[in-house]
This record gives sequence, structure tokens and C-alpha cells, in this order.
Amino acid sequence: MTAVGDLHDIAAAHGCESLHLAADPGSGLRAIVAVHSTVLGPSLGGTRFRPYPDLESAAVDVCRLARGMTYKHAACGNDQGGGKAVIIGDPASLRSDALLDAYGRFVDGLGGRYLTAEDVGTTQADMDRLRATTRYVTGTSPELGGSGDPSPATAWGVFCAMGAVATRLWGDPSLAGRHVVVLGVGKVGSALGRHLHEAGARLTLADVRADVVGPLAAELGAAVVEVGAAAATECDILSPCALGSVLDEATIPALRCAAVCGAANNQLATDDDGRRVGERGILYAPDYVVNAGGVVNIAEETAEGGYDQQRAFARVATIATTLERIFALADDRGITTASAADRFAEARIATATGTA
Ligand code: NAD
Repeated sequence: MTAVGDLHDIAAAHGCESLHLAADPGSGLRAIVAVHSTVLGPSLGGTRFRPYPDLESAAVDVCRLARGMTYKHAACGNDQGGGKAVIIGDPASLRSDALLDAYGRFVDGLGGRYLTAEDVGTTQADMDRLRATTRYVTGTSPELGGSGDPSPATAWGVFCAMGAVATRLWGDPSLAGRHVVVLGVGKVGSALGRHLHEAGARLTLADVRADVVGPLAAELGAAVVEVGAAAATECDILSPCALGSVLDEATIPALRCAAVCGAANNQLATDDDGRRVGERGILYAPDYVVNAGGVVNIAEETAEGGYDQQRAFARVATIATTLERIFALADDRGITTASAADRFAEARIATATGTA
């Protein structure tokens, strides 16, 4: 049993401003919202819907994810703070309109301190349902005034980030003739593959789903490699677009790429792995900067005049200049690019709080 004192400790250990608990026995809702920071604006982050072994592990996860959102918003220039929510339970058996309505009322009661969005286990249809009980929801379908699926914006951001990587390594943002290995060709990886194909890049694709990777490879004239061999394939850029922790003590020595730049969250298994990649002379483009296109797009929903896709995608493209500044900061300070991204985000927050 987790004591209230433990929850305070968990929030404090992650630097969260507040934790909010919801329980609705009628629908089975048990949810936690973590507001990590509202320094740059109202907190914004997705609702994760999945089982947890206990309340403590759910609280640790939501606080850790909310903290990550603070850094992501700060680095990409969003005037938003970091927040995140978890609904505890298996969405396959627990999801119901009654539960989503209860959750929407809970989010609404936070009065805009926290804006929610889609995440693992929740869907755009869920966001549409939440819109009935709260206006503090983003990523609803365009018919309801939302920006819809964030994946195309995320893929566009990764593509622009690769331009910054190319400029840094080869003095030119063009990806024509560059060999890119995309590991994971779901919503983001497939859209990224199409951008790269149009730009004239040479592609190698890998995915656990043969039924997905095969047709896409045929469409794009790409090679296919086994998932287990992807990270060690000789290429210019390795683009992890599936799961996290692909860069660890075992995989890093086997890498044969000039750079790593992809959409997957938490690509470095540990902080030490950022140093290991750097020591191999491989340029690591920090994941939360590279994959910020989705949240940049969503944050545009709160812009004056409402969401405008052209304006949103133009803002997503600024990920390239942000990355260039982070690479320069890493050089200046002699630190890893991952650490430089953190320092970059922290500097923006410090400026906002007047502590810079
Ligand atoms: P997705 O579920 O649509 O696609 C993931 C793909 O990876 C699937 O095709 C799946 O078959 C494949 N896959 C799963 N396990 C694999 C493995 N071990 N090796 C190779 N392939 C594997 O997800 P997505 O929305 O495209 O997101 C991809 C990654 O980017 C995730 O890590 C996600 O957290 C991150 N991300 C996504 C967005 C977004 O807007 N969708 C935004 C930020 C970050």
C-alpha cells in the first residue's frame, strides 16, 4: 500500500509541482495527473492507459514522463509546461464511455493547469470523447477543431532534424544519395521513409512486422534488413523509430553509422550511453528534440486564431535550427549532445524564472 507521504516523496524526487489523483468506482477509473512545471505555460502531455503493478510504480512513471515533457517543450520553444497522466488498467477491458467521461471531468477540474493528449493506450477517438466533458484536451480530430494524428508532424520534424545532421557532418542539408536505415516503419517511420525517398535518399528498412515493411520497401525501392541486424548496418544515418533503449553497451560498439537521428523515445539506455556514442565519433541527435514535431503541432492548437497546419509545420521545421544550436553548445562546453539538449532546455526555463 502506497502512503500519501510516499507520493509526496515521489513528486518531490522528480521536481513535480503537483500530483492529482482521481478515483471513480462506478467506471473503474483510477488516474494520476503529474504537473511537473507550469513555468513556460500550462502543462501539456499525453494520457497513458496501461496496467501498473501498484500505485507507486504508476506515480513514478507519470512523474518521470511529466519531467521529460518539461524538457521537450522547453527545448522546442513551446510555451507549455510538462505534464502527463496515467489511467491505471488494461484499456482493452477497462475503456468505456463512462470512464472517459469521468476522466474528462477530472481533467476539467484542474482548470487548465494540465492539457491532455493521446499517448500509449489512448486513441484519437478517446480524445474526441473527452472533448464532451473538457476543453482541456488536444489532438482531437480536425472536425472537433483539433490537429488530429501528430505522427505526420513528428515525421516531418525527424526529416528536418536529419537536414541539420547532414549540415553538421557534410556541410549541406541535402539527404540525396545518403543511406538511411529506418528501424520501425509504423506511423512515423513510414511517413519519414516517404520524405526521405522524395529527397533522394537510399533507404534500408526494418520492422518486426513483415506485412508492413515488405509493401513499404516495394513502394520506396528500399532494401529490407532483419530487425536484429539493423543497428549494425553500414549507413550514413541510423533512425530508430520503434522502441527505446536501442543504444546500449552491447549495440553501440557494433554501430556502423555516422549519426543517429530518429523518433523513438529514450534511445539511450543510460546517460553513459550518450558518452559511449560520442566516443565512437557518432553524432547523436537527442531524441526528445528530434521527435518534438508532434508536440509542436499540438501546441499550435492553442495559438491565436486556432490551429493552422501550414504554420504548424513551419514551426516544426525549426527543430533543425534548435539542433544546430545544441550541437554548437555541446562543442563549446565539451559535453555530449544529450547533455547539451538538457542544458539548452534548462537555460530557457531559467530565463523564464529569472534565475538565468
Ligand atoms: P507505431 O506503433 O505506429 O510504429 C512502431 C513500429 O515499430 C511498428 O510498425 C512496429 O511493428 C515496429 N516495432 C515494434 N517493435 C519493434 C522492434 N523491436 N524492432 C523493430 N520494429 C519494431 O508508433 P509510431 O507512432 O510510429 O512511433 C514510433 C516511435 O516514435 C515510438 O517510440 C514513439 O514513442 C515515438 N514517438 C512517436 C510520436 C508520434 O507522433 N507518433 C511522437 C514522438 C515520439
